[in-house]
Amino acid sequence: MLSQVEDLDPFDIAQRQLDKAAKVINLDKQALAILREPMKILQVSIPLKMDNGETEVFTGFRVHYNNARGPTKGGIRFHPEEKLSTVKALAAWMTWKTAIVGIPLGGGKGGVICDPKKMSQGELERLSRAYVRAIGEFIGPEVDIPAPDVYTTPQIMAWMMDEYETLVGKSSPGVITGKPLELGGSLGRGDATARGGLYVLREGAKRLGLDLSKATVAVQGFGNAGQFAVKLVREMFGSKVVAVSDTKGGIYSKDGIDYDKLVQHKKKTGTVENFPGTKNITNEELLELPVDILIPAAIENQLTGSNANNIKAKVVLELANGPTTPEADDILFKKKVLLLPDFLSNSGGVTVSYFEWAQNVSGYYWTEEEVYARLDQRLTESAKAVLDASQKLKIDPRTAAYTISIKRVADAMKLRGWY
Ligand code: NAD
Repeated sequence: MLSQVEDLDPFDIAQRQLDKAAKVINLDKQALAILREPMKILQVSIPLKMDNGETEVFTGFRVHYNNARGPTKGGIRFHPEEKLSTVKALAAWMTWKTAIVGIPLGGGKGGVICDPKKMSQGELERLSRAYVRAIGEFIGPEVDIPAPDVYTTPQIMAWMMDEYETLVGKSSPGVITGKPLELGGSLGRGDATARGGLYVLREGAKRLGLDLSKATVAVQGFGNAGQFAVKLVREMFGSKVVAVSDTKGGIYSKDGIDYDKLVQHKKKTGTVENFPGTKNITNEELLELPVDILIPAAIENQLTGSNANNIKAKVVLELANGPTTPEADDILFKKKVLLLPDFLSNSGGVTVSYFEWAQNVSGYYWTEEEVYARLDQRLTESAKAVLDASQKLKIDPRTAAYTISIKRVADAMKLRGWY
């Protein structure tokens, strides 16, 4: 059983992916040494008065991975199983993500170990504000710009921006992205991650000759990324979503799943399970369904050495960060499954975050059409470059994407005289 010996530590995986691509382009060893580690790590301890009057202490992190191409940028996760290794890996992937879409930002990430599902709104607000007070000197519109990620929302971004502005004593909307529209958020940010991924999927399908209007789709995760993927893949291409899941489990119907009714059902029951007209399946079963397109949009390490051989999809569109291990990568490449890698496929979120930051800094706001058109252009160009490199070098698309990104970051470091 491969899974028992497989190294699932997210940062080890990120470093192995980097090493593999560095070898392909014969990257200077000094550049590689810099790129293998984050530049700065901040760990904070946050005492918080809970609703019951008792103080609990939360641990938070913020990592600046690399800022050679611009201020670091990356989301904040609130998760009970958050750990530094995950934050470091996510910060590394942000570095490759901003580079692959060519936006003038570096990579960073943050997280707090907490379970938002068990906290009141008041506790969440106090935690969000306390986290910003703890990392206040580590962030800023020209330093490091956070955004939402798993279990953090536009409301949380609003509290964080407000707290930061109180700290610095001036208006500073560019300190954080993913804000509500009323506070300087960008039109089009809500569904940007999924929409960007679907532009990438469109390029991938073209290369395979896959007709998306006849394609079947399974989506793991029904949060920001997954939910909009379910909605938009049908709206944009007419594809049929036959399976969806969340933490509790999944559902399947060969006739397709009605998005609007599923949203209502999830609102009412708290899960997608037991949705009328579908059969309940497990998350493991969802991944192995005979569909054309599989979209992991939940968490890390879902496709591993132990299930990759059973994957039947022709295309894997990674909207989640790190859903596939290196062992699974190799197996899927051998099986000729087209894997559209995370830091390309889910870069729509940070791209529109960059648009939001640019709008905040300039004070001039764009229409939704402008946002979508610029997103389409950037993601389509980036996807073409990755797929071309993969074909030319005969390597998997993830490694191909790495070769482009690390060269861009290494070139910036060279010009700065870092090596
Ligand atoms: P979210 O909190 O909105 O949703 C997460 C979803 O995953 C929920 O439906 C949850 O039920 C499900 N989930 C959690 N654990 C699961 C498990 N073990 N099995 C099945 N489902 C599970 O988060 P999100 O923003 O949609 O992020 C999802 C993934 O996409 C993460 O890897 C995140 O880093 C990545 N991502 C998100 C964005 C963004 O803009 N939201 C951008 C880039 C990457």
